[in-house]
Amino acid sequence: METEILVSNIQRFCLHDGPGIRTTVFLKGCNLHCPWCANPENISFEPQQYFAREESKEPKGVYGKWMSLQNIYEEVMTDKLYYKNGGVTFSGGEPLLSMSKLEPLLKRLYQEKISICAETALFVPEEELQIALKYLDTLIVDIKILEEEKCKNTHGGTLKTYLRNINILNNADIDVIYRIPLIKPYTTEAENINRIVDFLQSKRYLAVELIKGHNLAEKKYQSLDKEWYRVPELSDEELCTIKSKILQNGISAEICKI
Ligand code: SF4
Repeated sequence: METEILVSNIQRFCLHDGPGIRTTVFLKGCNLHCPWCANPENISFEPQQYFAREESKEPKGVYGKWMSLQNIYEEVMTDKLYYKNGGVTFSGGEPLLSMSKLEPLLKRLYQEKISICAETALFVPEEELQIALKYLDTLIVDIKILEEEKCKNTHGGTLKTYLRNINILNNADIDVIYRIPLIKPYTTEAENINRIVDFLQSKRYLAVELIKGHNLAEKKYQSLDKEWYRVPELSDEELCTIKSKILQNGISAEICKI
């Protein structure tokens, strides 16, 4: 039987998911549990019923649809005209966990010279990363918390795995965009920002993007009847202080609105 992948959404004309205009395929399933996750419907590896916001517990729909690689290919290729400077991005969830299942599709897009990008937290097995490196031209990689215990306690990831993968990326032929989610207090503490600055000193990258945390996923959490973390507002002053700290160290970073 042909491989099927659990897709929660395919979004067209995306301008912040890699270079140019892109079609983004959101895959379900993530091995982390960041309290601030903006895509809570993509954490579970299973289809999930969701409910109307109101008190009635009548199911309103299901997050996640099994799609064959052929179906995904046909969907993304309807936008081929827009891929001159753009392409296809896989997001999630953690799309790098699905690289081996996606490989025939990645190979086909690669052979047809379609740019492929993925957004990743990078806490993934090396074998999956190696498949990505065969076909993808760009990776957007989160830098969240660079301290082992805090990582484990906050989102459950093993920092050693992340750093091993970063090392592989740093020596690979792929464009890397680092993305720093600014989530008070988890990632914004001065100690963490200092670690991020030190970390970036020795890394090769195309760009560094600062993303201000937000609460836009509130309705999704409610629809899943799931507890959520209200991200405290980061003031303009705090944002400028963090950006200046990074710039002062010779790292050119941009605030990215997504
Ligand atoms: S890694 Fe991304 S998708 Fe996974 S829980 Fe964290 S924010 Fe959500």
